[in-house]
Amino acid sequence: MKKLAVIGSTGSIGTQTLDVVSARPEHFQIEGLAAGSNLKLFLEQVKQFKPKIASVGSKALADEIKPFLPAGVQLCYGPEGLVEVAAGTDADTVITAVMGSAGLPATLAAIAEGKTIGLANKETLVTAGHIVTSLAKEKGVPLLPIDSEHSAVFQCLNGENRSDVAQITLTASGGSFRDLTREQLADVTVEDALKHPNWLMGAKITIDSATMVNKGLEVIEAHWLFDVPYEQIGVLLHPESIIHSYVEFQDSSIIAQLGNPDMRVPIQYALTYPDRWTSPSRRLSLAEVGSLHFQEMDFVRFPCLRLAFECGKIGGTATCVFNAANEVAVARFLSREIPFLKIESILEETVSRHVPVMNPDLDEIREADSWARDMAARL
Ligand code: NDP
Ligand code: MG
Repeated sequence: MKKLAVIGSTGSIGTQTLDVVSARPEHFQIEGLAAGSNLKLFLEQVKQFKPKIASVGSKALADEIKPFLPAGVQLCYGPEGLVEVAAGTDADTVITAVMGSAGLPATLAAIAEGKTIGLANKETLVTAGHIVTSLAKEKGVPLLPIDSEHSAVFQCLNGENRSDVAQITLTASGGSFRDLTREQLADVTVEDALKHPNWLMGAKITIDSATMVNKGLEVIEAHWLFDVPYEQIGVLLHPESIIHSYVEFQDSSIIAQLGNPDMRVPIQYALTYPDRWTSPSRRLSLAEVGSLHFQEMDFVRFPCLRLAFECGKIGGTATCVFNAANEVAVARFLSREIPFLKIESILEETVSRHVPVMNPDLDEIREADSWARDMAARL
C-alpha cells in the first residue's frame, strides 16, 4: 500500500493523479490533499479519498468549506497548510502538482521529512534547483519526474552510466501558435492561446507552451534532475508529441521513449517506479501514426527559449527571476491586461535588469523572486 499526499489536487496533474489512484484503489491510501480555491471539486475529492489532512488556499476558503467536511479530517489553509499536507502526514510519496514557485517550501519540507517526490511542479527546480537537489541527495530522497519529457529521459537512462550520455534532447510540440509568424502573434487572444494541439493542461502551462517558456523551464528542470550541463541539452520541434524525449549516448545510439500523449502514463510511472502497471491509456500504433515530423528549434521565433538557456548558463538567481517574471507576465496576459508578445518583452527586460546572486540561499531566492514579481508587474 502506497501512502500519498497530493498538493494541487484540483488541477490538471492533480486530478489525473487521483484518476490513476482510483483505477487501483487497493494500492493507495491518500493521506493528504491540498488545493487552492476550487472548493466544489476539492470537497468531492475529500469525500471520495478521505485524507487525514486537507488544505485550501486561504482562511476564508477554509471557513467556507469547513461545515461540509467529513468528520475527522484536519483542515488547514494557506502556505502553511500546503507545507502541512506535504510534510506532516504518514505519506511516503508526495505529488507536487501545484502551479508555480509557491510549491517550493512544501517540496523542501517534504524532502526534509524523507518523502519521495513525484515532481510535476517544475518551477520549484527552476527557482531553487541547487537547494532542492542537494537536500534530496542528503536525505536520500528520489525525485521522480512527472513531466512527460523528463519521465521519458528518466526511462531512457534506466540502467545506463551517466558518463556515457552525450546529449539529452527534449521534444517540443510547439504549442498553440507553432505555425504562426511573429507578426501574426501580435494580436492573438487568450482563447487562441489556451487551445493546445496535443495536451489538455492548466492555463499557465498552456500559455508557457505557446511562448516556449515551458520548454525553457524544462531545459532547466532537466539540468537539475539529470545533472547535465546545458551544452548537453537540446530541444527539437516534434509536432505530434509521440516521442516524449530521447538520450543519445557516446556510441551514437539513441534511446527514446514513445507513447500517445497522456499524462496518466508518466504520473503512473512515478507512482509505481520501478514497476510498470497496465494503463487505461490508448496503446500507440506506429503504423496508424504513419509518419513523425521534426524540425530544428528556431530561437529567433521563440526568444524565450533562448533566454531560458542564457539564464540557466548564468545560474544563481537568474533562473528564479526568469520564472517569477514569467508567472506574473502570464497572469497579466490571462487577465487580458497585456498582449501576448508583451510576455516576452517583460521577461527580457526583467532578466536584463537583474543582478544575479550566485549560489543563493533561500532568503536570497525569496528576495530575487519578489523583486522579479514586482518588476514584471510594473513593466
Ligand atoms: P493547474 O493550474 O491545472 O492546477 C494547479 C493546482 O494547484 C490546482 O489544484 C490549484 O488549486 C493549485 N494551486 C495553485 N496555486 C496554489 C497555492 N498557492 N496554494 C495551494 N494550491 C494552489 O496546473 P497543472 O496541473 O497544469 O500544472 C501543475 C504543475 O505541473 C505545474 O508546475 C506545471 O508546470 C506542471 N506540469 C503540468 C503538466 C500538465 O499536463 N498539466 C505537464 C507537466 C508538468 P485550485 O485550482 O483549487 O485553485
Ligand atoms: Mg512537459
